[in-house]
Amino acid sequence: MATKRATRKRVTTPKSAKRPSARKAATATKNGALGEYNRKRDFTLTREPAGRVPATRTKALRFVIQKHAASHLHYDVRLELDGVMKSWAVPKGPSLDPSMRRLAMEVEDHPIAYNTFEGTIPAGEYGGGTVMLWDRGTYEAEDGGGVTSLREGYRRGDVKFILHGKRLHGSWVLVRMKRPGRPQWLLIKHRDEYADSKRDVTEDIRTSVATKRTMEEIAAGRRVWRSNR
Ligand code: MN
Repeated sequence: MATKRATRKRVTTPKSAKRPSARKAATATKNGALGEYNRKRDFTLTREPAGRVPATRTKALRFVIQKHAASHLHYDVRLELDGVMKSWAVPKGPSLDPSMRRLAMEVEDHPIAYNTFEGTIPAGEYGGGTVMLWDRGTYEAEDGGGVTSLREGYRRGDVKFILHGKRLHGSWVLVRMKRPGRPQWLLIKHRDEYADSKRDVTEDIRTSVATKRTMEEIAAGRRVWRSNR
């Protein structure tokens, strides 16, 4: 995990490095929803999206898992809820084995626009390193109770949900542990037809769900799609 920088020096960025979105980002809220996300990032330096909360929508809720080679490799699991992506950093990534409890450290809410982010965060910036879109799709409350059930589960620290991803499917749970400090949760696969104690899914799947690139290719800025595998 990247450590939070205690101070942020304003450095002068050459005009050429500034993108149009960077200027707009300055108006993104640093308080309220996504405030922590915006405070941690300098959008004149990183290509990550600025945090904004869109108007309410009624389509299926989205999820995304991003493999993130920051100072320590981890997988960021993000579930859409109330206009933001609730986010957990899972050092070992998801496991299909229901006997495995994967530590999931809750991190700041991310904007929904982050769901398409793949690329490299500059070294020295918050979360500096390569980000791969590892899986994505929609998800729903396991009990069919919709967003009300998910909201209540999140508040209670017990979110039971079904993933409809390209790579991950079926029933999962996030359970919050009672510990002081930043909330720590466990990500556990429920027993269903998608559970598999023999398959190491993070070892198996090493390419982007969006571009089929490896981490090395993303880091190198290679933009072509792999058509041969
Ligand atoms: Mn991360």
